Amino acid sequence: MARINDHYRKLTAGYLFPEIARRVDHWQQAHPDRAGRIIRCGIGDVTEPLPAAVRAAMHRAIDEMGDRATFRGYGPPTGYDFLRRAIAEGDFAPRGVNVDPDEIFISDGSKTDCGAILDILACGPADGGRANRIGITDPVYPVYVDTNVMAGNTGPAGPDGRYAGLVYLDATVENGFTPPPPDGPLDVVYLCYPNNPTGGMIDRAGLEAWVAWARRHDALILYDVAYRDFIRDPARPHSIYEIDGARTCAIEFHSFSKNGGFTGVRCGYTVCPRDVAGRSADGSHVPLHPLWTRRWSTKSNNVAYVVQRGAEALYSPEGRAQTAALIDHYMGNARRLIDGLRDAGFTVHGGEHAPYVWVECPPGTGSWATFDRLLDEVQVVVTPGAGFGRCGEGFFRVSAFNSRANVDAVVNRLSAMSTVRA
Ligand SMILES: *Cc1c(COP(=O)(O)O)cnc(C)c1O
Repeated sequence: MARINDHYRKLTAGYLFPEIARRVDHWQQAHPDRAGRIIRCGIGDVTEPLPAAVRAAMHRAIDEMGDRATFRGYGPPTGYDFLRRAIAEGDFAPRGVNVDPDEIFISDGSKTDCGAILDILACGPADGGRANRIGITDPVYPVYVDTNVMAGNTGPAGPDGRYAGLVYLDATVENGFTPPPPDGPLDVVYLCYPNNPTGGMIDRAGLEAWVAWARRHDALILYDVAYRDFIRDPARPHSIYEIDGARTCAIEFHSFSKNGGFTGVRCGYTVCPRDVAGRSADGSHVPLHPLWTRRWSTKSNNVAYVVQRGAEALYSPEGRAQTAALIDHYMGNARRLIDGLRDAGFTVHGGEHAPYVWVECPPGTGSWATFDRLLDEVQVVVTPGAGFGRCGEGFFRVSAFNSRANVDAVVNRLSAMSTVRA
């Protein structure tokens, strides 16, 4: 009989989004008359359709695929050059960052990459301890944690949901949801700015401190910038490579899901600079770029030509204008949520450089109790902060990915609630 990967059995039951769905279903069955009133601000999925420039490019690419002269079979395992060049010139050169097209690895999204990167790092316990000492911020995008659990990099979860063997860095109101580097060493740290779920954003000095720390301790930073285009302040770092020295200590994950509306299309990319290295069992330093290249060429032939042409179109003048309009729409929603919920008496964080507003629960009410109350009283579905980690308890996340009409309705409904104030 086949042995299973027993690490999967450590994953805590009731993963956040299925649990939300379960509670919403349950409420709808109990209240069929009001089921249609529900407004969802829970899952961070986009709502607005794909930009016209993307659709036009994909139509053209489909037609190329229908013609023997322009048909394409297997593509390059790490992505087509036309897209890698468009990214280097569109996302990095304008900010004075030199990333070579062959340091850019196209993929079907950064959720995939955040998990796949563990393929090239030592996993599981080694030398009586853990192969890698891994740090994550709390609250956190659950993918970083669960992929490490699956890979055997943790022990079991404790009663507070924290896994043995991971190092948790508390993101709190006091540190502006940007925890500083720890005093001691770690081997791998996941950072995400603009942050999901808190909507917090690091500044240049904060990111410089992380890079200096990583270089001091030979640590690897896995830097997730899925929300990069939502940064409203040009002075904030849009890439970790804007910080001197980051090319030796960081891998960066990008996604077209949120800026380009690609959540259903599936495309993103990872930057793995040639200068970043890890340590081999024999103590030697080994560059990660060849390992990551090998991982792709062995396990994948990347995403469809049609999709990569669609992603390329995001960098055309029309594509840029259309994505800018999409982001303005979502960030306009975030502004209304911040102002409206503050007026309603809530204490609100985030939402300035990210499409998420992080709201304090009414005093004495936990995340899930607030979730249930919002569902029951005003039929607004939010995401309970506790689902993102222990430090998320006492908060809920409201997503700005919505229509303007829904956002206005959410503000009106939450304003009408009686006892949100202290
Ligand atoms: C949405 C999101 C992503 C993007 O994932 P895709 O697989 O590219 O859709 C990555 N990281 C974070 C933190 C996210 O919220």
